[in-house]
Amino acid sequence: MTAPYIEVAELLLRLKNCVVLTGAGISAESGIPTFRSKGGLWEKYDPTVYASIEVFRKDPSKYWQIRGDFIRDYDSYEPNAAHRALVELENLGIVRQVITQNIDGLHRKAGSRRVVEIHGSLREIICQQCGRTYLAPNIPEGNPPHCACGGVLKPNTVLFGEQLPPEALEVAIRESSTCRVMLVIGTSAVVYPAAHLPVVAKQHGAKIVEINIETAFPDADHVVLEKAGTAMARILEAITSRRTD
Ligand code: NAD
Repeated sequence: MTAPYIEVAELLLRLKNCVVLTGAGISAESGIPTFRSKGGLWEKYDPTVYASIEVFRKDPSKYWQIRGDFIRDYDSYEPNAAHRALVELENLGIVRQVITQNIDGLHRKAGSRRVVEIHGSLREIICQQCGRTYLAPNIPEGNPPHCACGGVLKPNTVLFGEQLPPEALEVAIRESSTCRVMLVIGTSAVVYPAAHLPVVAKQHGAKIVEINIETAFPDADHVVLEKAGTAMARILEAITSRRTD
């Protein structure tokens, strides 16, 4: 086992009270494309057009047109080793909260209990007229799909230009300002206010561990340049072997 994994394992065992901030990179090994990495969705589509609330209000078909390129069948994706390692770390009393920017539901599917989805969830599709909720994959046909009442359907996710759900943001800020370690996994840290959470954690004295294939967070105390699945499996292995020493 090489040094960075052991260092991070020892830090987590010593400080516990760990909050995790995840982004699209943690789900890349589950087959869901990221947005900003090489080959990501935004190389093909302009987010200011396809994922903005302003454009959605004028022409919702733009959003629905690219949805199939992103997450085709919501239920067909499976959590990977990184999601599963976070469940184990929660069971061990080390991870106390996962804050995710992801909208794929994979943390809950893996079994994480304390998850806050600050950008919402793709599972829920809401009628903009009557508020009825449809659950993917049971979405009416059509582009854009319409509710039985005739209203346009919108995913319950935060598009560019929309506010984050206030309760979710409140939990995220509270958890970030009281943790002792923050694991920042697979995020390019450019989408605010999520990108500010590691800054809040650091300002309150937490150690920041970044796990990414390329570094995105300059103020990290430890950087593990590796795929999330590989890195988290190794960190978990180092933790469990030390606990049984
Ligand atoms: P991003 O696409 O901007 O950045 C992805 C990051 O993951 C990059 O830093 C990249 O280097 C890293 N990465 C890629 N593969 C990795 C791997 N195997 N292991 C570790 N790191 C890896 O993603 P973001 O920062 O989360 O911001 C994008 C926004 O888009 C978020 O708000 C999120 O809601 C949304 N999004 C969600 C999903 C999802 O739900 N799975 C996927 C794409 C985008």
